[in-house]
Amino acid sequence: MNKLTIELRVSQLLTLDKTATMKNPQESCALLLGRKKESVYEIEEVIPMINQDSSEVRFTMDENELLKIYEYAELSNKSVVGIFHSHPSKPFPSDTDMTFMEINPIPWLIKSTITDEMRCFIFSDSSKGKTDGIEEIMMVIVKD
Ligand SMILES: [Zn+2]
Repeated sequence: MNKLTIELRVSQLLTLDKTATMKNPQESCALLLGRKKESVYEIEEVIPMINQDSSEVRFTMDENELLKIYEYAELSNKSVVGIFHSHPSKPFPSDTDMTFMEINPIPWLIKSTITDEMRCFIFSDSSKGKTDGIEEIMMVIVKD
């Protein structure tokens, strides 16, 4: 089995950076649209979202806005293949994140606004036996 990978373009990375910086120290969030090809999640579009919570420790996306984006994705033959959010702390999933990651087992990108580091994790059933079922995914940055 190939290792799961997420592929982002430089411009998409910059969009995520900007999204995180604008809201800092509040958490920011975004949806990543694209396609999964075998073990690679290819990102085609980054859609910054509003964090309804205006919080430094959690984020919630508006349900109507979410619905619209899922509809748009379907119409444009894409899927929601990733969820991005920022932390004014370390780039690792919180307990709350882990709960939602299990419900939504797609890649979760977390950017730390204190170290500027970004990491990607996914909840995986195949990692049963590991402590929490969360595994890290390799990020590959490609030129636009
Ligand atoms: Zn979080």
